[in-house]
Amino acid sequence: MNQPRRPGFPARIDSLSTGPGAGARGAGSARSTVAPTATGWGMDSAAVRMRMVQRLAAEGIQSPLVLQAMGQVPRHQFVDSALVVQAYEDTSLPIGLQQTISKPSVVARMIELLLGAACVQQHGGLGRVLEVGTGCGYQAAVLAQVAREVYSIERLRGLHEKAQANLRPLGLDNVHLLFGDGMLGYPRGGPYAAIIAAAGGESLPPAWPQQLAPGGRLVAPMVAERGQQMLLVLDKNTDGSCTQTILEAVHFVPLKSGIA
Ligand code: SAH
Repeated sequence: MNQPRRPGFPARIDSLSTGPGAGARGAGSARSTVAPTATGWGMDSAAVRMRMVQRLAAEGIQSPLVLQAMGQVPRHQFVDSALVVQAYEDTSLPIGLQQTISKPSVVARMIELLLGAACVQQHGGLGRVLEVGTGCGYQAAVLAQVAREVYSIERLRGLHEKAQANLRPLGLDNVHLLFGDGMLGYPRGGPYAAIIAAAGGESLPPAWPQQLAPGGRLVAPMVAERGQQMLLVLDKNTDGSCTQTILEAVHFVPLKSGIA
């Protein structure tokens, strides 16, 4: 179990200069273990977030774009205040209505996979992305850093509204939040360079590959053999055919149809 830590951590971030607290210690500071004088989440979060980014890089995330995006988005602003101390740990956290915000390592991994789409190489960047399962809006905010437009759809009204409230202060004008059943995709925003699902189904909804552009890529958790959820990557080829690859086991909340 993760021990809750006090908001004033970490006490040592000697090598980091990104946190506003970093400059608060004088060059001649006698002890390197003293806590930064600037404390509280507003002041410390950038440094704590950089620690998370360093861990993601150490664990294999290579894309500078993804690492930068993970470093930009204040994950602590997307979780309940009681969970803020855990916001930069590599753990999923409850966001209400029995749903969870995905682990940072899974968010980074899936977005890095999206950036491997053939059309990203062709166009020099990621165009329109559809996210199924907005939840609290965190992943949509990360996607907004790496994609031209983000369409994110959520089937639970309470979470759709929570995401609106969470994202408003960030002023990301390339994120479009939609309330509806993402199993149907969102044809008006397509075709998409990438589709990413944050909930795992028994089979692939036909609308998703249909709404994917040629050269586009879909990344989704999907139930495979023996009921185990696996990460599925589907590439749409220029002739309209699709190539599927099954990667590692994952644990996502279930994909459900309809709205509630
Ligand atoms: N990306 C989210 C993770 C949310 S968890 C985040 O960063 O917080 C997955 C979400 O998928 C849940 O909110 C769940 O309600 C939603 N979901 C499940 N089935 C769905 C569907 N058919 N359409 C839209 N959202 C769906």
